[in-house]
Amino acid sequence: MMLDALLPQVARPGRYCGNEFNVTRKDWSSASLRLALIFPDLYEIGMSHQGLQILYHLINSRPELLAERAYVPAPDLEALLRAQGQPLFSLESRRSLSEFDVLGVTLPYELCYTNILTILDLAGLPLLAAERDARHPLVLGGGPCAFHPEPLADFFDAILLGDGEEAILEIAGTLAELKKNRAERPEVLRRLAGIEGVYVPAHYVPRHDERGRFIRMDGLDGGTAPAVRRRVLADLETTAYHAPLVPVTKIVHDRLGVEIARGCTRGCRFCQAGMIYRPVRERTPARIMELAEKGIGDSGFDEMALLSLSSGDYSCLSDLLVSLMNRFAAERVSVSMPSMRVGTLTPEIMTQIKRVRKTGFTLAPEAGTDRLRRVINKGITEIDLLETSRTAFDLGWKLLKFYFMFGLPTETDEDLAAIPILAGRALATGGGGGGRKINVSVATFVPKPHTPFQRVRQLGIDEGWARIDFLKQSLRGRHFQLKWHDPRMSFLEGVFSRGDRLLGSVIIEAWRRGARLDAWNEHFRLETWLEAAAGVGVELDGYLRPREATEALPWEHLDCGVAPEFMESEAERALAEEYTPDCRYHGCQQCGLCDFREVYPRVGRPGESPVIASTTPETGRVGEGRFCYRLEYSRTGNTRLLGHLEVIQLFYRALRRTGLPVNYSQGFNPTPRVTFSPALPLGTESLAEYLIIDLAEPLGEPEEVRAAFNRYLPAGFTVNRIKLDTGRVEQRVLTCYHIDPGQPVDPERLAAFLAVDRYEIEVIRKGKARSVEARSLVSGLELTAEGRLALQLVAEVSQPGLKPAELVRELLGLDSAQTLALRIVKMWSREEPEAGIRSAEPNLSL
Ligand code: SF4
Repeated sequence: MMLDALLPQVARPGRYCGNEFNVTRKDWSSASLRLALIFPDLYEIGMSHQGLQILYHLINSRPELLAERAYVPAPDLEALLRAQGQPLFSLESRRSLSEFDVLGVTLPYELCYTNILTILDLAGLPLLAAERDARHPLVLGGGPCAFHPEPLADFFDAILLGDGEEAILEIAGTLAELKKNRAERPEVLRRLAGIEGVYVPAHYVPRHDERGRFIRMDGLDGGTAPAVRRRVLADLETTAYHAPLVPVTKIVHDRLGVEIARGCTRGCRFCQAGMIYRPVRERTPARIMELAEKGIGDSGFDEMALLSLSSGDYSCLSDLLVSLMNRFAAERVSVSMPSMRVGTLTPEIMTQIKRVRKTGFTLAPEAGTDRLRRVINKGITEIDLLETSRTAFDLGWKLLKFYFMFGLPTETDEDLAAIPILAGRALATGGGGGGRKINVSVATFVPKPHTPFQRVRQLGIDEGWARIDFLKQSLRGRHFQLKWHDPRMSFLEGVFSRGDRLLGSVIIEAWRRGARLDAWNEHFRLETWLEAAAGVGVELDGYLRPREATEALPWEHLDCGVAPEFMESEAERALAEEYTPDCRYHGCQQCGLCDFREVYPRVGRPGESPVIASTTPETGRVGEGRFCYRLEYSRTGNTRLLGHLEVIQLFYRALRRTGLPVNYSQGFNPTPRVTFSPALPLGTESLAEYLIIDLAEPLGEPEEVRAAFNRYLPAGFTVNRIKLDTGRVEQRVLTCYHIDPGQPVDPERLAAFLAVDRYEIEVIRKGKARSVEARSLVSGLELTAEGRLALQLVAEVSQPGLKPAELVRELLGLDSAQTLALRIVKMWSREEPEAGIRSAEPNLSL
């Protein structure tokens, strides 16, 4: 494949290299079923997603199955793939997605729908399931949007509702058998439809009235469509551990995720996740400790996130946090909880969180007044919010983030006006000064299917902007910052959340008109969608309207397990501002989900956690010494596509995994004391890199440490030597590069360059053009017997340097594509005393 030639031409090529640590590469030919697991957004988003990783490891744990990954390419790579006629590929084997038996696509949010079409198209597949047959991979979906998938129904062969751990293996087993028997597509769909939790859209026929409004869903025979019941994994405790994938390039959530619980029964009436992931299933503290130990040990991450819909509601949280912090504080591993609820954030928990470094502190009041919070069943009051704010400020946090929605049912002007008032009162709890700040984020409320508010009206775009304008006016001053989710995006989210199958044509048309990466502000264009909808004759505004209590809904045949009567009762209780308590502590509220045999809330008890005594002093220091070691290493192959910061992160993680007693910097965000050799230009391989690590104790067996690093670094990195060092960094360095120019070189050009005293070259630094005098930086330049250029360049700390490619481009008159295609290898490097540089004779042997 020509991919190696394409990647140097795109931004952040590390996204496409597939050399993550703990990646699985299986023998293609011996797998009976091959699945490509796809996240329909950019790598940095998709790699942060836990669900895909769980299924990836689970499938690959079966000898007969193979799973690889793919993400949507950024526009630059998409354009190159199209220009070169290359298909989209999996990261592990770089095979075209069309070679797989199954494409398993995560459905995380509505604004990624056009990305799914990009993926199908780049795989060379017809977009519509009806136009695909046994020659094509099956396209399966799953994830939160599986519960309201009608806008996507035409593109998918089948969609899984609910937890995937057990279902995916059942599906894979069935498909492997059908593949062996060469079953035709209708037979395959029939068998899939027989698996609990699997929705086959082709077996369902939506009906609309003359205005285009959905009126019912029929089965293929014209009768009532059978309901599809969601899969529920009854118990999280027994799921297997798998070593996490560790990216080599920066991603959004670059940390170890440990799922401490699934499901939330707090009962917030706007929250779809709270309904479709019921009941609560907690892991035991002992199992969480085990997963954390193994996960940090196998990854080297310096942050661990305790994941669940509401981590603060985990029943043994205080004890668990003490144990985790006692175990990991000395290694500077911080613990974050991305989903904390006010009321569960006790001072004890907050004290534990800040022991290593203060991660962000986010509160979600959702609404400005207690009245509106009662409507949505948020279960917290202004007093709770102010108490938590005061404690956070007292404990040293400077910045609090508050999340609100506007457009909630029954909202009044008073509710909206209460948002800035509440922010002001929260700031006042910290005394109002000392650099303390409050960020207020607001978004339009999107009524979601399978929630008590699924029938209410959504605000229009102009109404959303009007509320933002009001908040801009009322939240003034340097202590506040207002951020908002674009109401135009919320509009589309609302349309596709509660949309029907007619919207499939709008998605295709918008994609054809160029809609891509719609969840990204820089790519989103509402006009494209409005033009597409007009082009296919679908009116989008109507999807925001309220639905009558008797009106059919396009997702009613998909059963999330919560009874319709419970939804209706909750909608009524909302209007009456009545509280519905959490069933895990206050008894069953009759939502209808649990069978109380296999499926029921699984909650622990405080005191169950194995509290681990701290083995190190609070400072985390493990020794008082200072021993510097120099690690010399090479980086070859695709590692040339990694940036300097990415390489630093890789070594930090490998260092953590070795367990060496590294010294840390002091301050707010302690980092390991490590010095790296100067940044290597992107696209350059090297046989001569180094880093200096500062340890609190001497190394016992350097050779064992060297071997450990080589185990923990991705392919392409090799540590060749470890030796004691002074820790001093060279100020002036002579480096030799070998460069394959990809064409014969006229020696006269080199001679002409070496004959002059000065040679100005224009280079780009930090986006700006500047001139560098190149001749004085070149100490040697010759042609090797193989036709390569051997270039010796001088570089001095804090002086403008020259990259080998910049000089070669200039000397040989290369265009940018030829320059990017140069193969450059750094061969050696050594300290160069100042006196020796300019007096060195030009080294030209032809
Ligand atoms: S059935 Fe009862 S216990 Fe189970 S999730 Fe629903 S309300 Fe909670």
